[in-house]
Amino acid sequence: MSEIVLSDVCKHYGEVVAVQSTSLRIGEGELVTFLGPSGCGKTTTLRMIGGFVDVTAGRILVGGTDVTRLPPAKRNMGFVFQNYALFPHMTVAENVAFGLEMRKIGKAEIADRVKTALSRVRLAHLADRLPKQLSGGQQQRVALARALVIEPTVLLLDEPLSNLDAKLRQEMKTEIRLLQKSLALTTIFVTHDQDEALSVSDRLVVMSAGKVEQIGTPRDVFERPASAFVADFMGFTNLVPVKVEGHGRGQLRNGMAIAIDKESPIRGEGLLALRAEHMSLSSKPVSSDVNTTEATIEALTYRGSFVDYLVRLDDETRLQVRGEAQSPFAPGQRTFVAWQPDAGTLVAAGQA
Ligand code: ATP
Repeated sequence: MSEIVLSDVCKHYGEVVAVQSTSLRIGEGELVTFLGPSGCGKTTTLRMIGGFVDVTAGRILVGGTDVTRLPPAKRNMGFVFQNYALFPHMTVAENVAFGLEMRKIGKAEIADRVKTALSRVRLAHLADRLPKQLSGGQQQRVALARALVIEPTVLLLDEPLSNLDAKLRQEMKTEIRLLQKSLALTTIFVTHDQDEALSVSDRLVVMSAGKVEQIGTPRDVFERPASAFVADFMGFTNLVPVKVEGHGRGQLRNGMAIAIDKESPIRGEGLLALRAEHMSLSSKPVSSDVNTTEATIEALTYRGSFVDYLVRLDDETRLQVRGEAQSPFAPGQRTFVAWQPDAGTLVAAGQA
């Protein structure tokens, strides 16, 4: 049993509220990612679960057992740190064996388990090397083997890929996910990288300023952000003020009537979140079932296979729109910006 339940958990450092009262449930075998910008409280939350930071208030349960006051060694959790934290004077095998020796396990069993853990991360052939004789990706695998060898109930990963180059990051991301699934290991992954979070997780917990903004599947969070903050963080580069009139109708600040999401509960002042790549530019208005408004090209950035335009509506609203690289628009030119009604998602007006 390895379901994790956080019940009104918070952390204060004097006046600083690192984590506001948070309640959430992570199911057995699930991989949940804490995602958010630097300082939002994701590491503190992970460390409270691991027992490295005391909670100010609230309870943490694992498999129904209250672990809130237990020291890290008594929680049976595997932890992978951002900087790996390998012992430099110990070989790969000794690093991996360390946790088992602390648990007073017999020599033969240790040898067996170290071998299994190292082959799981494809490092059996490097068992006798020292950490400094390994590449970054190999060191990361040792850290992973060391966390897995204790047969943890829960695996905690704190920005495990941030020290790797882009190619290795991609490889390790896939390896971690395959390993986690094959062992059905309840896992929490901390990152500030949305691509990483989207591709490894069953669910995301998006945090901002010590508070959970949204919990959902990668698709929920990417397509239906719950707040202006989440929309902005997930790449909706345009947050356009809109008066929501209901029945799928709304009005931009320039008075233009637009079609919007019929299902949205938002009424009155709201923000229409739009991705640059879901909008287009044309020299003439497009068909009437597509939202279209006139604008002026302000600037453009050539990006190889596409061009990013900054355009200005007549009410001074600025929008980022992605266009084709061969597109003929130039700064100062008048244009029409268009988007399908279902390309926009409504969020409550508020701080992004
Ligand atoms: P990063 O990605 O930069 O590691 P994070 O989202 O993991 O950021 P935390 O490390 O959890 O953020 O920090 C949350 C907040 O708590 C920050 O404002 C931080 O300055 C503060 N904080 C963390 N540890 C302490 C401490 N020991 N004393 C005082 N404030 C702290």
